[in-house]
Amino acid sequence: MTISVATLMVFLGVIHVQSSLSRPVGGTVTVEVHLVPHSHCDAGWLITDEDHFRREVRVALDSIVASLSLLTNPTYRFVWAETIWLQKWIATSDNSSVQALRTLVQSGQIEIVGGGWTMNDESVAEYRDVIEMITTGHEFLRQQGLSIVRLGWQIDMLR
Ligand SMILES: [Zn+2]
Repeated sequence: MTISVATLMVFLGVIHVQSSLSRPVGGTVTVEVHLVPHSHCDAGWLITDEDHFRREVRVALDSIVASLSLLTNPTYRFVWAETIWLQKWIATSDNSSVQALRTLVQSGQIEIVGGGWTMNDESVAEYRDVIEMITTGHEFLRQQGLSIVRLGWQIDMLR
């Protein structure tokens, strides 16, 4: 019997099948699907940071923290990449919301990936800027006690 393994990754509605499915005649195929809800909030893209935070990022982080705090299923997770928005959100949120964020990060329900101040562009960034941006983000996370970055994250490649 052939065991089929398929990994589906969903990023902004684009589905990539990483391995081909094979199914024995008359058999069944089990497909395990992992949905990875994640941030992709490019600081400085088209509008100012302040407008971006006020119009979109604030409500996104509010709803992510509130939703995950209310859910009783610890397997529900969210991946966040850009620390600039965490800084703005923490600076403007009440203590109970910030504590909820810390609890979700410690439990792994919110995972901070990459941890740079922003997620840099891959095609035109100068390496010293990338190092500075990652260092700044990690330093902020360390100061906030949120320095649990285990994975790199780069989904803004090859424009
Ligand atoms: Zn982008």
